[in-house]
Amino acid sequence: MFIREYISLAPYTTFGIGGPARWFAEAGDEGSVVETVEFARERQAPLFVLGGGSNLLVSDDGFPGVVLHIALTGVEQQGSFFQVAAGEQWDPFVSLAVKRGFGGIECLAGIPGTVGGTPVQNVGAYGQEVAETVVSVRALDLHSLNFVELPAAGCGFSYRRSIFNSAERNRYIVTGVKYCLRRDAAPALSYPDLKQYFNNSNTSPDMDGVVSAVREIRRRKGMLLVEGEPDCRSAGSFFRNPVVPRSLYEEIASQAASGSVPAWSAQDGWLKISAAWLIEQSGFHKGFRMGAAGISSRHTLALINRGGASAKDIAALRDRIVAAVEQRFGIHLEPEPVWLGPEG
Ligand SMILES: Cc1cc2nc3c(=O)[nH]c(=O)nc-3n(C[C@H](O)[C@H](O)[C@H](O)COP(=O)(O)OP(=O)(O)OC[C@H]3O[C@@H](n4cnc5c(N)ncnc54)[C@H](O)[C@@H]3O)c2cc1C
Repeated sequence: MFIREYISLAPYTTFGIGGPARWFAEAGDEGSVVETVEFARERQAPLFVLGGGSNLLVSDDGFPGVVLHIALTGVEQQGSFFQVAAGEQWDPFVSLAVKRGFGGIECLAGIPGTVGGTPVQNVGAYGQEVAETVVSVRALDLHSLNFVELPAAGCGFSYRRSIFNSAERNRYIVTGVKYCLRRDAAPALSYPDLKQYFNNSNTSPDMDGVVSAVREIRRRKGMLLVEGEPDCRSAGSFFRNPVVPRSLYEEIASQAASGSVPAWSAQDGWLKISAAWLIEQSGFHKGFRMGAAGISSRHTLALINRGGASAKDIAALRDRIVAAVEQRFGIHLEPEPVWLGPEG
């Protein structure tokens, strides 16, 4: 295991923002993961697990502890089961599964980051989420320093949540994920954007067709990482869609000029309201600029680094949006990306 010092974290994030890590380790196997944990413990330094940095905003002051970059690779297939190492890139894995004739994750094409990051926030898009296909998560338990195999039922998956980003945050280091995919399944076409994409087509799309459509829809929204595109210097959607009781939804809808508000049903009869709609109704628009920070010109939910933005710039825009939505609707928007390091 090789540990470097004072390594700038900005190149390891899709925002392209952030100061240095005091220590930076790259783990290509489980032994190196354990060694890095021991290294941090010996120095009583905080530890942060870094995947693809696509759901991350790093402080301008960096991180005063050990950053453990997960670089374990390997994909093993047994029938419909795929055991994938946490450092594998997610999108190429989706392509591989589809190429081998398996479905269940086709709508999640084009999402950046690593396989290890997918159970953390139960990655989801266009009508699918990984909770539907994860069988188990292999992880180092920092309480016991043993590797454990957590069944999906023990991962506490719900909308953009799992035990890994809530109740047991900082307890597990994911080293692998086992998925059960469906051979020759019909592609999932439940999401309105996807249905609309194929509206004018007479034939039903195959799995490859759906993957291409998802990538194209993402590209149009600036939600596909494309080299040199300022709209994708982001962490994807910056805010979660708030889940509210039906009574609050109806109150908001009754005041809306259109009489309706984009929303999806959630658990227990509650509704997930479009955060993008709330933001737009609170005085913001696509392409909104605040210094070097801004809102993507193609997607209201994505805050972007317009070039040379600091974490402070992004945080100032975040705070302005949160305050405006709170004042207009009494709803507190929750950021999706993880903040690393001191804020101030
Ligand atoms: C353009 C764009 C589009 C996006 N679209 C979507 C989308 O449609 N749907 C969606 O859900 N997300 C989306 N995202 C967000 C992001 O891609 C996902 O959340 C992704 O799964 C994050 O993985 P990562 O490896 O980059 O994690 P990182 O950003 O490196 O880390 C995020 C969090 O996960 C933890 N973590 C990462 N790896 C591990 C591990 N091995 N063990 C333990 N903890 C770990 C980190 O400590 C951190 O707390 C998008 C982001 C971008 C930039």
